[in-house]
Amino acid sequence: MKTKAPVSKNERLDVTIADLTYQGMGVAKVDDFPLFIENALPGEEITIQVTKVQSHYGFARAISWQTESADRVKDVDKTYRQTGIAPLQHLAYPAQLTFKQHQIKELFSKAHQDVDVAETLGMANPTQYRNKAQVPVRMIKGQLETGFYRQHSHELIPLTDFYIQDPAIDDAIVKVRDLLRQFEIPAYNEISDKGVIRNIMVRRGYYSHEMMIVLISRQQKLPSQDQLVDQIHKALPEVTSIVLNVNAKKTNVIMGNVTRTLYGKPTIEDTLMGLTFAISARSFYQVNPQQTEKLYQMAIDKAGLTGTETVIDAYCGIGTISLALAKHAKQVYGVDIVPEAIEDAKVNAQKNHLTNVDFFVDKAEDQMIQWQASGIKPDVVVVDPPRKGLAETLIASTAKMGPKKIVYVSCNPATLVRDVARFQELGYEIDGPIQPVDQFPQTPHVESVTVLVKK
Ligand code: SAH
Repeated sequence: MKTKAPVSKNERLDVTIADLTYQGMGVAKVDDFPLFIENALPGEEITIQVTKVQSHYGFARAISWQTESADRVKDVDKTYRQTGIAPLQHLAYPAQLTFKQHQIKELFSKAHQDVDVAETLGMANPTQYRNKAQVPVRMIKGQLETGFYRQHSHELIPLTDFYIQDPAIDDAIVKVRDLLRQFEIPAYNEISDKGVIRNIMVRRGYYSHEMMIVLISRQQKLPSQDQLVDQIHKALPEVTSIVLNVNAKKTNVIMGNVTRTLYGKPTIEDTLMGLTFAISARSFYQVNPQQTEKLYQMAIDKAGLTGTETVIDAYCGIGTISLALAKHAKQVYGVDIVPEAIEDAKVNAQKNHLTNVDFFVDKAEDQMIQWQASGIKPDVVVVDPPRKGLAETLIASTAKMGPKKIVYVSCNPATLVRDVARFQELGYEIDGPIQPVDQFPQTPHVESVTVLVKK
């Protein structure tokens, strides 16, 4: 096919940025042909150079600015944009919050729906918020390094300050890195498929300060394993769990299926909403604890429970939302696909003395069909799916069970829009404004809570 692009590679031109994509890139249009430009904000007049031309869009690089946006934050470290750690760092935080609110509004309006979207609930201090790090490990010039990949590549950029992570976690990564160097344990090499350490994961309880170190290794046993483990917990007194995860496959998937506790317990504990949670290495746990409490409180308030209701929490993880709701409901059922998460969830119910909750390991879409077939009549269904959103079958079986309310916690507004439309076809309507909660400041990720009620 012949391309009709009005620009060609390496061409320089002056443009005005019209928009910001959901990935945080500036958009300029040349005769309706969109060019995507990193580090460019709406309203800015920029001289750009075209770097790539495809049939329906292209990419360009900003060369110089004639005018700058009033929302531009100056003197940011471009590493955080290049690695994708903080792609929106150059946009002032209040403008980030507005951007996220508008994202949802616009995606609905593209689907011909006029919805009410509340202002994004933000953080007072929108940095150093992450309670979890997952960093790749590489040999560079013969030395083991930790850092982050340049976006769309596997080139490691060494980093010690990750900007959006709890600084205690940054510190732990450096200490573990130094010990790996000291014991001459080599990093994994993706190309030769040799070496040992692939990734380091660190989780730290926001309230408990309990720390878990997960070493993701190609090998079943690490060289100098006992000494290394001993030195890690000596160097990091907060560490209550050191776990080895074995991933021997040539893959981009980070964790393998085998986990072994090398020191302490297989879980760390933290609290949320005054409840205690055990979290194991493979379980999902929200990364921004301060905002998670706001998000869950919102979900609880919107569920409007009085103590008599039956509730389903689909995609329940370690049971955080389930247990927070159980305090206000008659019976809660939770389902998650990860067996370790459900094991954690059951332990967590006991820890918090909640006996009106039952957890199941299954695909939510399959479990919902079973619940529907067995005649369970939930008053409220909470869904908190991953980015791909809800399966068609889950929506169908939910609608058949006919709950009065569905509380949809979404981390991807694109699939939210699609799924809401399906629920509308099945007799549900949006109730009240959609509420975005900023779980991922400095990044373009948009989290929100939507309530659907039966007409
Ligand atoms: N509500 C929980 C977890 C949300 S994250 C919390 O806030 O902590 C999404 C969860 O969906 C993860 O725990 C993941 O394991 C689970 N998951 C992904 N696909 C699934 C599926 N098809 N069925 C059930 N659970 C699934």
